[in-house]
Amino acid sequence: MGCIFCEIIEKKRLAKFIYEDEFAVAFEDINPQAPVHALIVPKKHIPTILDIEEGDKPLIGHLFTIANKIAKDKDVADRGFRLVMNCNEESGQTVFHIHLHVLGGRFMHWPPG
Ligand code: AMP
Ligand code: ZN
Repeated sequence: MGCIFCEIIEKKRLAKFIYEDEFAVAFEDINPQAPVHALIVPKKHIPTILDIEEGDKPLIGHLFTIANKIAKDKDVADRGFRLVMNCNEESGQTVFHIHLHVLGGRFMHWPPG
């Protein structure tokens, strides 16, 4: 079965890219849940958090440095923003290629829904 995020990474499916390097991309979420809603996606196809391996540690850390940059670029760094990575059904994960949501531009609720 195809992976829509792999298709985006391979430029076989359109997305509004806001960042790309050798290891990861970031693009706007197609169904934004906040004024700022970007997805940071490693180029390596890792289905869920549970599939992250020892050797992926630098890659996972890298996603957070990209989040830092996007939050600053989108002017939500000082106001505050939220990073979310869902895992499996009860979290609401719908795309099984890990991605870090960057959400900002409005007050976030806690606990999350
Ligand atoms: P999750 O529920 O954590 O797996 O998040 C998947 C996210 O991917 C959702 O917020 C969707 O709106 C988003 N999404 C699904 N398809 C696309 C797409 N083609 N381009 C951009 N975002 C997408
Ligand atoms: Zn994939």
